[in-house]
Amino acid sequence: MPIVETFSVGLLQCNCTILGDPVSKQALVVDPGDEVGKVLAALEKHGLRCHAILNTHTHIDHVGANDALKAATGARLMLHEADLPLYDSLQVQSEWMGGILPPPARAEVDEHVHQGDRVAAGDLVAEVLHTPGHTPGSLCFHVETGGGLLLSGDTLFAGSIGRTDLWGGDYDQEIESIRKRLLGLDDRTRVIPGHGPETTIGRERRRNPFLV
Ligand SMILES: [Zn+2]
Ligand SMILES: [Zn+2]
Repeated sequence: MPIVETFSVGLLQCNCTILGDPVSKQALVVDPGDEVGKVLAALEKHGLRCHAILNTHTHIDHVGANDALKAATGARLMLHEADLPLYDSLQVQSEWMGGILPPPARAEVDEHVHQGDRVAAGDLVAEVLHTPGHTPGSLCFHVETGGGLLLSGDTLFAGSIGRTDLWGGDYDQEIESIRKRLLGLDDRTRVIPGHGPETTIGRERRRNPFLV
């Protein structure tokens, strides 16, 4: 069973998730949005080494601690290239929000990941699902072991979906991404969104007002 730990970081309470392989002690950190101290403490608690940093997308609240975490661990940073324009605009994103989140340092991207790619940390494997709509490069990460787990970023929330009124957002594309890439997963798949409480694929298929 993989080690899974989720905690919220930063002013906008982005869910940061650590996926760890209990044997090799390698870990993937998804969306270190802020508060690198919290991320490092969680890694240390489980005796894990951060092998790679993954961003579900490059909104400022999901990438804020990329640089600090990379500097502290030497991990490789991976995201989808369609979100690079957004990642290159952290100053502008900060201004959109009236400056409540100061622009973070922009960590160098080491690898672009795409639909169907598999990112491994020891025996733990996260499959990359490209789900444009919230942003052009939005990704979800699916782990098959341990009953099935989906990190859905800001694409799918418990009872809702991500907003599409920001730069690069597209409502129809988002609905299509969810139907094509997510709703085909097993009903029991545990879903940890980018914000708020967790849910399951079955519950969202039956009750999410945007999908029924
Ligand atoms: Zn977002
Ligand atoms: Zn967000």
